Amino acid sequence: MSSPYHYMQLPREVIVRNGTLARVTEVVQRLGLSGSALIVAGQKSCEIAGKQVRDLLQQAGMNVDTLLVKTVTNKEILTVEERIKEWKPRVLIGVGGGTKIDAAKLSASRQNLPFISVPTTLSHDGIASPLASVKGLDKPYSVMAQAPLAIIVDTDVIVQAPWRSVISGCGDAIAKFTAVKDWKLAHAEKDEYYGEYAASLALMSAKLVMKNAKLIQPGNDEGLRVLLEALISCGVAMSIAGSSRPCSGSEHLFSHALDMIKCPHAMHGEQCGVGSVLAAYLHRADWKRIRDTLKQIGAPTTARELNVKDADVVKALEMAATIRPERYTILHKLNLDREACEKVAKITGIIS
Ligand SMILES: [Zn+2]
Repeated sequence: MSSPYHYMQLPREVIVRNGTLARVTEVVQRLGLSGSALIVAGQKSCEIAGKQVRDLLQQAGMNVDTLLVKTVTNKEILTVEERIKEWKPRVLIGVGGGTKIDAAKLSASRQNLPFISVPTTLSHDGIASPLASVKGLDKPYSVMAQAPLAIIVDTDVIVQAPWRSVISGCGDAIAKFTAVKDWKLAHAEKDEYYGEYAASLALMSAKLVMKNAKLIQPGNDEGLRVLLEALISCGVAMSIAGSSRPCSGSEHLFSHALDMIKCPHAMHGEQCGVGSVLAAYLHRADWKRIRDTLKQIGAPTTARELNVKDADVVKALEMAATIRPERYTILHKLNLDREACEKVAKITGIIS
């Protein structure tokens, strides 16, 4: 590790329940950030939640500007940064699904501005993590940004998102099962720093989602709460670890590889779930349990369900380790050739 000390940046406030958008003013005031705010949102998330956030802050006497972003590329991050430089807000509020939150998180971090996360979907663990994934950077995986100062999750907003985003969130949470195995492996074989607390927190999130899989159904608030708490805990695990290590292993590398091979592709968490089945098989862990839980939730477990070709799955598995040579995982250890990758994908039923 290059840093001389271990740095942890954690969220200060996490507010979760129905109707919590109404608390945004109170949170901003308590954090001493009154004055001006910049909201970064997508068109749809602005309608669903952004406008309400803006109106509430304006009613409290704040100056509020809204910047709509579409796809989140490095160019759009720079646009947000320009607006921050021009307008000098006290706080940046990201309202949206994963990508909009990431755009807000990274631009705020680059401009040294506090960031509040207001997710409108539960599609992955970026809602609470200090990392951001942005297209067009030199790396296809997440980079360190900053932890949100506050996270406000309104379940009345979350239930409006497509159900598929919940399934994706579950896949991302279950994927921690193999991410933690890869981290342990890197510690044992490469003497990499390993934090048992962060690892336990990430693993517990995966286990709780798996244990409560039957509750993950539309209209079941308890199931949604399990997922929400799991994803927030994953974000905190990354904050404690100071990297994405507890939450991102070989299954994430597989997903990143698939993103590079096939676009448009399935959702992040859907791909990581399938990646986790493959990685669990390679770790000689209970891959069938992961597959069966994903099936129970309604998540993809085959190439066909991911809407990719069998050959793309094999190619992604073969290429995954090359994306991050420094992040040692079971894929780096085994160094599988194409034939071996095909065999693994067939045995696990991901390809036919
Ligand atoms: Zn993820």
